[in-house]
Amino acid sequence: MKRLTLSVLAMSLLAGWAHAETVTVYSSRNEQLIKPLFDAYTKETGVEVKVLTDKEGPLLARLQAEGSNTPADMLITVDAGNLWQASNMGLLKTFNSKVVNENIPAHLRDPRGQWTGLSVRARTMVYNPSLIKAEQLSTYEDLADPKFKGKLCLRTSKKVYNQSLVGMMIAQHGEAKTEQVVRGWVANLATDVFADDTKLIEAVAAGQCAVGIVNTYYLGRILDKLPADKREAYPAKLFWANQKTNGVHVNISGAGITRFAKNEAGALKLIEWLSSDKAQNLYADKDLEFPANPKIKADVIVSSWGPFKQNLINMAKAGELQGKAVQLMDRAGYK
Ligand code: FE
Repeated sequence: MKRLTLSVLAMSLLAGWAHAETVTVYSSRNEQLIKPLFDAYTKETGVEVKVLTDKEGPLLARLQAEGSNTPADMLITVDAGNLWQASNMGLLKTFNSKVVNENIPAHLRDPRGQWTGLSVRARTMVYNPSLIKAEQLSTYEDLADPKFKGKLCLRTSKKVYNQSLVGMMIAQHGEAKTEQVVRGWVANLATDVFADDTKLIEAVAAGQCAVGIVNTYYLGRILDKLPADKREAYPAKLFWANQKTNGVHVNISGAGITRFAKNEAGALKLIEWLSSDKAQNLYADKDLEFPANPKIKADVIVSSWGPFKQNLINMAKAGELQGKAVQLMDRAGYK
């Protein structure tokens, strides 16, 4: 009996040896993007990172259904609206980190301390220079002006990116003015709304629309596939919106610690590492987004668009006002 106990003990010790510390991450970011980051983390710290990848909706539903039994220590997803949702569903835990607070600007972090941005995604205009000049463009709001009739292209209002954009406009202008703007957009549409940003950019390049609103990394991906000397001639150009007013609408990809994390300390260390210079360099280069840590330079294609002024309203507003934004877009006939 004694021998058996001993050997069981020996076996569990051995098992403990084989399994160094692990952090389990639920991620809606694709594996290709985050795997190299986590590999670098494992190499540096010896900590193993297990990842389960799925779309936002199913991931949040899974976290909720698993409750205190969840293996997840950390959630990574895109859009402040989704992170706000996770927080509001009680799926995240408050954390306070000096490292994160120093690395990531306040408007990209949850005021309640349940999530932080790790990369910045800018939603701005692309235009076709043979149909419209940059000097004719200024703000998102101005795209509602009748001078753009038949010239504007938009992605569907069902996409959270547009819900966040309109939510931030509500935060800035209130509902009445925002609704006027959205109605103006709808009246100016060149064609039906698009299912994704890439198709929209291609439509701008093809001259189907003169101007549209997209996340910049979609243009980055198109340019990245072209030989360097062909990029300049690509017929969809980026324009930084609202530079003389409140700045470009930005959103984030970000992370939080799950409410029932078994390895809370490990999750926090990983989040801190992801906000660090080294990880920020890797992260931004991979997805052609902007580093959330302002000390770090973006990829060459991304940097070629020049610096821009960001809208500094806290990201949490995008989540808070998402419901109102959806209703407003519906009222305004934005499909
Ligand atoms: Fe996207």
